[in-house]
Amino acid sequence: ASTLPRLPLFDAISKHDPESTAVVHCLSGRSFRYGELLPDVARARDRIHQAAGRSDVRGERIAFLVENSYDYVVTLLAVLAARAIALPLSPPFPPAELQYILSHSEALLLLHSPRYATKAQEVLSTPFPDPSPNPAPHPHPKLFELPKHLGSTSSPEAVALSDDVDSEGAGMMLYTSGTTNRPKGVLLPETALTAQCQSLISAWKYTPNDRLLHVLPLHHIHGTVNAVLTPLIAGSAIEFLFPFNADTVWRRFATPFLSKPQTNGVHTPPLTNGDAAAHAAAEDKYKNMSTAPITFFTVVPTVYTRLLSTHPGLPEPVATAARQAISPAHMRVSISGSAALPTPVKRAWKDLSHGNVLLERYGMTEVGMALSCGLSYVDRVDGSVGWPLPGVEARLVDPETNVLIAEGEEVDGEGRERQGEIQLRGPSVFREYWRNPAATAKEFVEGEDGAGKWFRTGDIAVRRPVGGGAGAGASGGWARGPMYFILGRQSADIIKSGGEKVSALEIERELLSLPNVAEAAVLAVPSGRWGQKVGAVVVLAEGEHRARGWKPMDMRRALRDRLANYKIPQVLRVVDEIPRNAMGKVNKKTLVAAVFRDDF
Ligand code: ATP
Ligand code: MG
Repeated sequence: ASTLPRLPLFDAISKHDPESTAVVHCLSGRSFRYGELLPDVARARDRIHQAAGRSDVRGERIAFLVENSYDYVVTLLAVLAARAIALPLSPPFPPAELQYILSHSEALLLLHSPRYATKAQEVLSTPFPDPSPNPAPHPHPKLFELPKHLGSTSSPEAVALSDDVDSEGAGMMLYTSGTTNRPKGVLLPETALTAQCQSLISAWKYTPNDRLLHVLPLHHIHGTVNAVLTPLIAGSAIEFLFPFNADTVWRRFATPFLSKPQTNGVHTPPLTNGDAAAHAAAEDKYKNMSTAPITFFTVVPTVYTRLLSTHPGLPEPVATAARQAISPAHMRVSISGSAALPTPVKRAWKDLSHGNVLLERYGMTEVGMALSCGLSYVDRVDGSVGWPLPGVEARLVDPETNVLIAEGEEVDGEGRERQGEIQLRGPSVFREYWRNPAATAKEFVEGEDGAGKWFRTGDIAVRRPVGGGAGAGASGGWARGPMYFILGRQSADIIKSGGEKVSALEIERELLSLPNVAEAAVLAVPSGRWGQKVGAVVVLAEGEHRARGWKPMDMRRALRDRLANYKIPQVLRVVDEIPRNAMGKVNKKTLVAAVFRDDF
């Protein structure tokens, strides 16, 4: 029998019921049990050694292009088993972007599934445009095609865990979203990943009874930690449905609650011959879906927006069954993060789901999840991202004076809220920005207490005591005291206008609460007179206002009751679309240049 090191992840997996479901492919219905996982990981680890031509690849970066699937999970775990650094790549990235990551990370191997053979070859066969920033040129990674299925074809061979618990060299490298700059390579040692998972398990209580539907890419911390590693440690089932498609997600939610399999004509008016064929094809696509209810859903705000806008178009009885599926009785936790959750979206989801209140959290590539609202509904306050998660230490520091905003000092002598940069510390924090010691040194500050350095997130927040029982510990001891409210990135969301510091997120929230606004981004527009002025870009909601052409002047008037004068956007443009990346984030630097160039 082969052996794997006794990393906490493998130790946990070895203790789960081997018959219980680990991974499911939502559309095909293929499912894989926990008992198969470690044997498959051991075989894939051996393949990695074979591809590298040596059995010691400790600390090497091993990149892979694999679709969201059981094979992705096996590959990720196999790299950790080899005590190497897993570098999951996004298949839709343009070749130049992938080349940047491959050369910057000095990857030893580029593993790929058969599906991405052409893409992988294309990436390696054209010259890399961007020379690696490293002093000594590094050879291109070696290409290695993984077999079509990494699942055992026969009954799995037993795997033993050795007594060796040394995880040195094992970890993951993820590139930041690149919202503010060129993506940075964030090195997360195995110990940090495990700490992140333990923190989430204690706060969100993943259990073997949970079934998670994952619809986002798997080259971000959100997907890799919250939706893969943490459920694996907890013994939950993970279903992959990717790329995201709102109709399919609704159908998956609804399936367990449809009384019998849908046949032609049950939920649609009599069909013509042509329509019947289309209908049958659609039904055929869904026929292998599992009937186990989804209990856990963690996505970004734009996914909820999309689901809310497509629900009214669903046929009956799917629409009703879907509402039942997302109700608190069945969907145990629905989480939002990675960008600010608009309050109207949170409210609309609550109405649609018979009372399910979205749980907002705040995280980043460098630390995983850092702040979170609680499992108890009283601890999900609108606009707040909650408290530091178990094991995470957080503090607020005035970015101009570097003075700590201590607990109880959230308001200054004149009764104004004090804004501070969120700084974080704890075992879940990353080790370094790869090949960028200057950035690493800049983002860590020494603590006065000698208990370790703090990571500077660059995000600005305030802390507020909130009533209604929030912060009383109903969600656990960590969920106590004043709550954090994110104001935005210091570099892009804090607008300094005529001596005032204005939060873009606060204004976006107010714009979004106007009935006619579907999307909004608030930006700092350079201004000779004010330093910066408040600019806003909005997309109008479908409906009469759009048809009649709601004017910027009308919007500004509508904001007057809600915002102080200096916060009302001085320049405001209506656009058809606000460009966002795969995680629903807006790059404000490019947006401001694209929309407000003439106002500079
Ligand atoms: P780069 O660092 O390359 O500019 P990025 O910061 O967007 O990219 P990520 O690590 O994916 O890359 O994103 C983390 C950031 O996302 C946080 O620093 C914060 O600004 C934002 N964020 C995450 N969760 C929330 C939330 N709940 N509300 C508001 N902002 C959030
Ligand atoms: Mg960042």
